[in-house]
Amino acid sequence: MTSTPDLQKLAHDIKQWGLELGFDQVGITDCDLTSEESKLEAWLASGYHGEMEYMARYGLMRARPAELQPGTLRVISVRMNYLPSGAQIAKTLADPTRGYVSRYALGRDYHKTLRNRLKQLGERIQQASQDMLQFRPFVDSAPIMERPLADKAGLGWTGKHTLLLNKNAGSFFFLGELLVDLPLPIDHPIEPACGNCSACIQICPTGAIVAPYQVDARRCISYLTIELNGPIPEELRPLIGNRIYGCDDCQLICPWNRYAVTSPEPDFSPRQSLHTPDLLTLWAWDEAMFLKTTEGSAIRRIGFEKWQRNIAIALGNGPASDDVIHALEYKRAQASPLVQEHIDWALCQLRSLVSSENRKHDKLIRCIYKGLADHA
Ligand code: SF4
Ligand code: SF4
Repeated sequence: MTSTPDLQKLAHDIKQWGLELGFDQVGITDCDLTSEESKLEAWLASGYHGEMEYMARYGLMRARPAELQPGTLRVISVRMNYLPSGAQIAKTLADPTRGYVSRYALGRDYHKTLRNRLKQLGERIQQASQDMLQFRPFVDSAPIMERPLADKAGLGWTGKHTLLLNKNAGSFFFLGELLVDLPLPIDHPIEPACGNCSACIQICPTGAIVAPYQVDARRCISYLTIELNGPIPEELRPLIGNRIYGCDDCQLICPWNRYAVTSPEPDFSPRQSLHTPDLLTLWAWDEAMFLKTTEGSAIRRIGFEKWQRNIAIALGNGPASDDVIHALEYKRAQASPLVQEHIDWALCQLRSLVSSENRKHDKLIRCIYKGLADHA
């Protein structure tokens, strides 16, 4: 017997085991991302990665999985839907007294959930291949270009917002990879289906999608509220609205997310305190409360200072009530210089006439989202 039929069967079994482990789709691809290398270099050369210095540090190794894990022949790419049912998107975005947390971060930190499942998948393949297999799991890991790999593995196509899109599931899913040293048969990419649409480019509050398939992370609210450590550029603050951790706008407007599938995974169920939270309640938290409430959540990674910075901006973009102004003033003395600067900006916004003009822009965006009833 040649090895080919065994590998065909193994590839088939791997997909079945992946589904049994809770993944929604599994694809297999080789390690050749040569076509991505020039795009990656151009993106880095433009400085679009901002402070994400690790992106530049790994350089072209990100497009060469076999350099990362010697002997790697194939990448098993998986996706797992995360949108919880009753995600209350429109309700939260439309209410400037509430903070909007990107829907992927409402439950437990997905990195652990996915990595554990990928490890189980690797062990199962190892058993089936009589311990011949070496494997290494990755989840949202800097050294690897997971979206192009998932694209090559046929899990979807890359949308103009640079996220992966699937005809049956939209884009609200996590990706993960298992690097293996078996020459499994590979899957093939699917045809892109964005067509003439450019809704994500038009809706982006900060103009971060600078051209189709090109995001300037330095303008992206996800980068600004999660990755950026210092002050958020002043001209972008009014455009952030009430988004306190990440942003889903380019996904929410995407017509393919009519087909988004909600997840039954208990780990992704929203925490009550983060689902559609009152900004003043979040602002009242001290660091101990922040650490306790975000235990096991991806939000904890940004730390209390950035959390406060983000909430100060959201409060500055909201209605100018006495309660809000007093709450901001009250915290100022104990706040770090970074947070103090954002408190001062928020107070200035709330007291100025200019702020009402700026808020008009955000109001317009919220009106658009009121039309998003699917996952409201
Ligand atoms: S996540 Fe938000 S800010 Fe970033 S590209 Fe999408 S719409 Fe723009
Ligand atoms: S909004 Fe339109 S252009 Fe953007 S990713 Fe979706 S289909 Fe593609």
